[in-house]
Amino acid sequence: MQSSGRLNQTSNPTSSPPGELTGRVAWVTGGSRGIGRAIALTLAGHGAAVAVGARNMQALESLCSEIEGLGGNCLAKSLDVRDGDSVEAFAQAVTDRLGTPDILVNNAGIYKTEPVRGHSLDVWQEIIDVNLTGALLTSRSALDGMIEKGWGRIINISSISGKAGEAFGAAYCASKFGLIGLSQSLALEVARYGITVNAVCPGWVSTDMSIEQLTDERWCRLNSLEPAQSQEIARLSVPQERFISPEEVAQLVAYLCTDFARGITGQAMNICGGMVLH
Ligand code: NAP
Repeated sequence: MQSSGRLNQTSNPTSSPPGELTGRVAWVTGGSRGIGRAIALTLAGHGAAVAVGARNMQALESLCSEIEGLGGNCLAKSLDVRDGDSVEAFAQAVTDRLGTPDILVNNAGIYKTEPVRGHSLDVWQEIIDVNLTGALLTSRSALDGMIEKGWGRIINISSISGKAGEAFGAAYCASKFGLIGLSQSLALEVARYGITVNAVCPGWVSTDMSIEQLTDERWCRLNSLEPAQSQEIARLSVPQERFISPEEVAQLVAYLCTDFARGITGQAMNICGGMVLH
């Protein structure tokens, strides 16, 4: 599922009222598909001006057209979070157009299956660069403006793999555990400036990433699963027996961006249908 379909949703009782984020500027990394796309649509639906960054410009521009068609404000800018120059160029361009950010959602992420035995250092580095160092680079760029305003929200999309290890995904787990550590440390550093920093930890979410992982021949072989059955087994591993939708994650992120959530900082909140209970 890719889109919330319309802006200004009010049906979910956990969401803030439409317009709650009017006047706020939000950066969403990895906005070209999946969870990031749903987050951009949802934040725009709550009134924020949204800057979306990823490598696939065509997908970003199509998202922005959709948001603008629904009456929202969206800016697409290419971004590779592994590259400090690209992050700086993104920050400069979107600040020039929209002003300094109030909200930063570090959502860009990748997953690759690798057993620790014989782990490729290139793959290790790539996963850490995208999933962890990328969040440091964007946070560094966003913080001055937030401190000046005395208000800010940073939300890092970690995972339940940041709470409990997962066989054959050590680099991914290490990056997601690390993202929770980064969130906690930064939360303490900036608490006095009205800035909250939290991690959101989804379980299985129905996106390209989970489908690619669950149908990957190597992942299935290493986990002794038949590819045809692996999605069903994953679903049954969730106490609620279902995958989370990107929109559910997006509504949690939107709530954390509101003033109602100003007392929540340094937390790592699971949204996983009961898979991990700590
Ligand atoms: P997805 O569908 O594969 O989307 C990943 C997004 O990250 C894409 O927009 C991609 O855009 C972007 N991205 C990847 N590398 C990038 C880079 N170097 N620079 C900038 N953007 C980059 O994955 P998803 O399921 O929506 O995942 C979103 C986040 O949720 C990730 O952090 C993931 O780890 C986390 N998560 C997902 C699940 C799940 O079950 N799906 C569970 C827990 C946590 P481009 O390719 O256009 O650059």
